[in-house]
Amino acid sequence: MKIQSIRGMNDLLPDQSATWQYLERVIADVLARYSYREIRFPILEQTELFKRSIGEVTDIVEKEMYTFDDRNGDSLTLRPEGTASCVRACNQNGLLHNQIQRLWYMGPMFRHERPQKGRLRQFHQIGVEAFGLNGPDIDAELLLLTARLWQALKIDHAVTLQINSLGTAADRAAYRAALVEYLSVREEQLDEDSQRRLHSNPMRILDSKNATTQALLNGAPSLDDFIDNESREHFQQLCTMLDAAGVSYEVNSRLVRGLDYYSKTVFEWVTSSLGAQGTVCAGGRYDGLVEQLGGKPCPAVGFAMGLERLVLLLDELDVVPDSVAQTVDLYLVAVGDVDRQALVLAESLRSDCPAVRMQTNCGGGSFKSQMKKADKSGASIALILGEDEAANNTIGVKFLRQDRPQETLEQHQLGNLLMTIFD
Ligand code: ATP
Ligand code: MG
Repeated sequence: MKIQSIRGMNDLLPDQSATWQYLERVIADVLARYSYREIRFPILEQTELFKRSIGEVTDIVEKEMYTFDDRNGDSLTLRPEGTASCVRACNQNGLLHNQIQRLWYMGPMFRHERPQKGRLRQFHQIGVEAFGLNGPDIDAELLLLTARLWQALKIDHAVTLQINSLGTAADRAAYRAALVEYLSVREEQLDEDSQRRLHSNPMRILDSKNATTQALLNGAPSLDDFIDNESREHFQQLCTMLDAAGVSYEVNSRLVRGLDYYSKTVFEWVTSSLGAQGTVCAGGRYDGLVEQLGGKPCPAVGFAMGLERLVLLLDELDVVPDSVAQTVDLYLVAVGDVDRQALVLAESLRSDCPAVRMQTNCGGGSFKSQMKKADKSGASIALILGEDEAANNTIGVKFLRQDRPQETLEQHQLGNLLMTIFD
């Protein structure tokens, strides 16, 4: 029996990697324009880190983490998200005290969920975190950054922004109590998941996709009535800034997010083009987390984007530029006993024309079979080196995607020709 990969942990094949690299490149470029810097931290952390930050009774910690004992008995967990690790790394390395940091990270995350379209067990996120700023201006900056990113990716018409404010931890506790009181007397009418959550994480019920539950919630107390004045003011200012910058949004008072550490602003960018897994980017403010993990108090706000979902969306909307899939410009056909000359010629062209991506035919073959390979490679030009050409220091140039007659050039003229075509 052949050994298979682990369910929900996919290989990324060469045909898809160009789109991934394109996506990662566009995101990194936009982040650089806002002067965010990359941070890298390990994939494994002490289990305690996630329990203490994400929260003991969240879905992630209760049932989704890949946790195991190390050989020396320490409990370790494959990171299910990046914020906790990022805060841990910043605390440990003294990056936060009296400092402002604008950071991003990228990499795999692990959650034991039911695999389906847009939901995997190893998935990838790019996360962005800003530390040391407590005003709504940095919340707005993050949202403007994401809006610019969707424009750069040409998916802005397919995503919408939802925002809400969760207030302080105390506001949330008061609201939770009121919600539980309202729902407890209607417990039998709730769907099964929500019944379970009523006792563990009742605010997640607001997220329920069940229609009866949602209808029941119409009469429930609303979170906005429990928000303190400072949070309310912060939220109003954020809305004013988004209005001024021309970013549209919808205030969704049922948006609560599934992690415990959020306070004040929370948001999600959602699309209706991917079915049930419609959230492509999600985040919010987490002013208490740094201190909770042992640092000096430090306000913070951030978000994470799911790269699989963004790739699905790019493909669905067919907005990846054609040039992204093209990886070969030039194919060097070498017919006869010319392998040595072909390699040397290819190297000198690579030195002279760094912008050209060239594939040299290796392993011989007839002229016809090599030309087939040249065509299949996607190259726009085939260079043809036969024994005559090698003897005369000439080269055949055949244009594969253009109605242009084949030429024979001196080899030393090639560099100039290529520079005019691919700069
Ligand atoms: P969802 O509601 O879809 O389960 P979440 O609230 O659990 O998402 P976060 O923890 O906020 O998600 O992660 C941020 C983003 O990472 C999500 O919006 C999504 O794009 C992506 N993401 C989360 N879990 C997965 C997964 N299992 N597979 C693929 N992408 C995921
Ligand atoms: Mg989830």
